Amino acid sequence: MNIYKAAPLSRLSIREYVKHIRIVTGTEDIMFFPIVEFMELVLPQLVEGFYYEICSKEKMPNKCGETFPAKNKICIREDIYEKAVNNDPFARFSIAHEIGHLLLHDVGSISLCRLEHGEKLKSFEDPEWQADCFGGEFLMYYPLIKGLTPSEISEQCGVTKRAASVQHSCV
Ligand SMILES: [Zn+2]
Repeated sequence: MNIYKAAPLSRLSIREYVKHIRIVTGTEDIMFFPIVEFMELVLPQLVEGFYYEICSKEKMPNKCGETFPAKNKICIREDIYEKAVNNDPFARFSIAHEIGHLLLHDVGSISLCRLEHGEKLKSFEDPEWQADCFGGEFLMYYPLIKGLTPSEISEQCGVTKRAASVQHSCV
């Protein structure tokens, strides 16, 4: 079976990377992170040539978004974009997940590999795990959520209860 394998990245290294972005963008104190504005206004300054497209449901029936690191491009499905603008927690996370792919998975870091029979992809080599990890760390900034309960995190960071519980268990 062929699957995509990414260069290994631990949660701690992703956390450090997020800290760097929060510092350079002056957003260290922002609990409810403006992810749509970040994609529209800040990402083009961080990633040369970055652009995003809003795609129709017909064009993208089974995915909320898709990222093309080689083209510096993110596609977001129209309904997800609309919901994220209106602060829907699931949609906000979808955008953060795609930004994770863009920032973590450049052309050289992803390979299509064949796993040995019975070998399982380790989570820290799985690009989907890495993008989820990035999304969680980015929207729920570690120094700000320490000491909060999952429901406080969910409410204050604008994420789903499920995402907040996962993140809470990693603090
Ligand atoms: Zn993904």
